[in-house]
Amino acid sequence: MSGYVIETRKITKKYGSLTALDQVSIHVGRGEIYGLIGDNGAGKTTLLKALAGLIWPDHGDVVILGRHEEKALGQSRRQMGAMVEHAGYFPKLSVEKNMEYFRILKGIPGKNRSEDILRLTGLWDRRKSKCGDLSMGMKQRLGLAIAMIGEPQILILDEPINGLDPSGIIEFRQLLHRLNEEKNITILLSSHILSELEQTATIFGFLNKGKLMEEIPIQTLREKCFDDLIITVTDPQTYAALLDRHCSHEHYTIMPDHTIRLAHPTQGAEVYSKLAADHGILITGMERHQQSLENYYMQLKEDACHA
Ligand code: ATP
Repeated sequence: MSGYVIETRKITKKYGSLTALDQVSIHVGRGEIYGLIGDNGAGKTTLLKALAGLIWPDHGDVVILGRHEEKALGQSRRQMGAMVEHAGYFPKLSVEKNMEYFRILKGIPGKNRSEDILRLTGLWDRRKSKCGDLSMGMKQRLGLAIAMIGEPQILILDEPINGLDPSGIIEFRQLLHRLNEEKNITILLSSHILSELEQTATIFGFLNKGKLMEEIPIQTLREKCFDDLIITVTDPQTYAALLDRHCSHEHYTIMPDHTIRLAHPTQGAEVYSKLAADHGILITGMERHQQSLENYYMQLKEDACHA
């Protein structure tokens, strides 16, 4: 067994002549928050639908909780809650009536279950409101609440942050972190904006035109994005020796143009200028070169375009 909670093995899905998914293999470990990133039309919804069992891939396997045979996969999917496309609630019914409907439909015993989830998702005070009257953020919470009814180990959420205002994004993010940390739920969510998931996901999968370009943990992604401080000094050799002595944990290179490049500096620029000043060295220039995660992703897409 692979040990992944969710895995796809080279799944391909075609709609006529259009290849929506092209041999996509994703790997989601237990307890991860997996951010699936891709532009409009990249294939995110198609992939999530394939995981949720709403469509069947033409080729390849979907493996959930280590099982991929049709019957076993169906059983594994009972451990999964999904919010893909629309939540399918009844707009004229109240929040609690909708929750009851889905609880009974899914055969989940105990009325308390709905109450617990409504409290957890911050909808308890709105339980009497008609679903159609809820704000966008509340509707997203309702979608999540419905997905949570069966006490899933896995949550699959298609663009859950779409349309939320900045405070709604923060609240939703906190809610996902709580579900992940307190209930140990593995979460797979999609977005077309990397920065939306930057503070949420523990690992990213970048999907482009139906192909998975890269799967990368957030830590590695941050390390790959360069953040350099370029320092120009009157005496680079002496300054480098000072760095060795006083900032031995720093990684620096003396460049051919005699500037000093500090990679991922750990302290503020003033610390490095003070070090020079204290030893009679003059700093004549200091420049920060950074690449944001968003730029990294743009670069990845550009490379894929020319591959
Ligand atoms: P978005 O961010 O816009 O929701 P997405 O990444 O979720 O995009 P998909 O909805 O998975 O992308 O669509 C991938 C491609 O497959 C698109 O070109 C889309 O037009 C096409 N597609 C999706 N569903 C169907 C369908 N039922 N019939 C034909 N083509 C489809």
